[in-house]
Amino acid sequence: MIKRRKYTKKYCRYCESKVDVIDYKDVKALKHSLSERYKIMPRRLTGNCKRHQDMATAAIKKSRHAAFIPYVVDTKKVSDTPYQRF
Ligand SMILES: [Zn+2]
Repeated sequence: MIKRRKYTKKYCRYCESKVDVIDYKDVKALKHSLSERYKIMPRRLTGNCKRHQDMATAAIKKSRHAAFIPYVVDTKKVSDTPYQRF
């Protein structure tokens, strides 16, 4: 049996730490929902609940607008990504 799942634990990290409001200035907290290329991770991979995923998405978009998180990451800077196939 081959186990290829990178994200084994399926629980909402925001629920665990009892977060009511996800601050768009708190980049560390948003990192849970971001990939290495700063893309928003889907719920099926992170295990976030619907409520917190929506909050995280809104916070990330707000954070991008305020330039805390980049919109685009240079491909040359990223060395190893789990989804890279080239
Ligand atoms: Zn949650």
